[in-house]
Amino acid sequence: MTVTLITGANKGLGYETARRLVAQGHTVYVGARSTERGEAAAGRLGARFVRLDVTDDDSVRSALNVIEEAEGRLDVLVNNAGTTGGPPGAEGITGAGALRVFDTNAIGVVRTTQAALPLLRKSDNPVVVNVSSGLGSFWAVTNPGLMESRDAYVVYAASKAAVSMLTVQYAKALPGFKVNAVEPGYTATDLSGGPGNGGRPVEENAEVIVRMATLGPDGPTGTFQQNSGELPW
Ligand code: NAP
Repeated sequence: MTVTLITGANKGLGYETARRLVAQGHTVYVGARSTERGEAAAGRLGARFVRLDVTDDDSVRSALNVIEEAEGRLDVLVNNAGTTGGPPGAEGITGAGALRVFDTNAIGVVRTTQAALPLLRKSDNPVVVNVSSGLGSFWAVTNPGLMESRDAYVVYAASKAAVSMLTVQYAKALPGFKVNAVEPGYTATDLSGGPGNGGRPVEENAEVIVRMATLGPDGPTGTFQQNSGELPW
């Protein structure tokens, strides 16, 4: 049985990924910072709940301790929790706000991955999926033909570029692991304005997260993937 932890899985892309992996037979831990929302989501999914706030060291450590006690190892970590930090443009950006976005989107990946490493090392096929964004791709944001080049998501895009670099560096640092970043694409979730925002449904856009979470030992590492295949950094 594959043991999988997904952060920020009480709704949106993380929830849909959890649903699909439960259907594939994984033992899925729904990580959520709210006990109420997390327990409700895990109950609906037939998954397990673990309280996990990616901005809080103690919370992340306790979550991994719970999984260690119950399972003794972790096979798949999906670093999915994320926040936008506000509307496009430079108006209203503060240092404190930017720190919060980086703390969740980038340092949250470091905090959770570091805490999970001892358990992932006990897996025969350790897999890490970092949910990044096309907005974190220098290629996409400077390509006039793509929607990523239109609006300036100053702090969010920079935090996702950091997620991409973390992916490349962790892939180098962790031989034997599969560490990849994914761009799910513009999705109708609360993060991007909810239903009616013109985004694709989670059922479509979680596809790439599921694909990279279910890689076999011969799968790629250190890559950036979207539904249609590899994406330039
Ligand atoms: P969503 O529905 O708003 O879900 C975001 C999830 O992250 C929620 O479960 C939220 O929990 C959780 N979260 C936020 N801060 C957290 C923290 N400190 N600790 C633990 N969990 C936390 O948005 P989504 O679109 O599914 O986003 C999932 C990922 O996809 C994000 O990394 C996002 O950047 C990425 N992404 C989204 C799009 C898009 O168009 N939607 C495109 C590219 C990439 P609460 O319910 O407690 O707030």
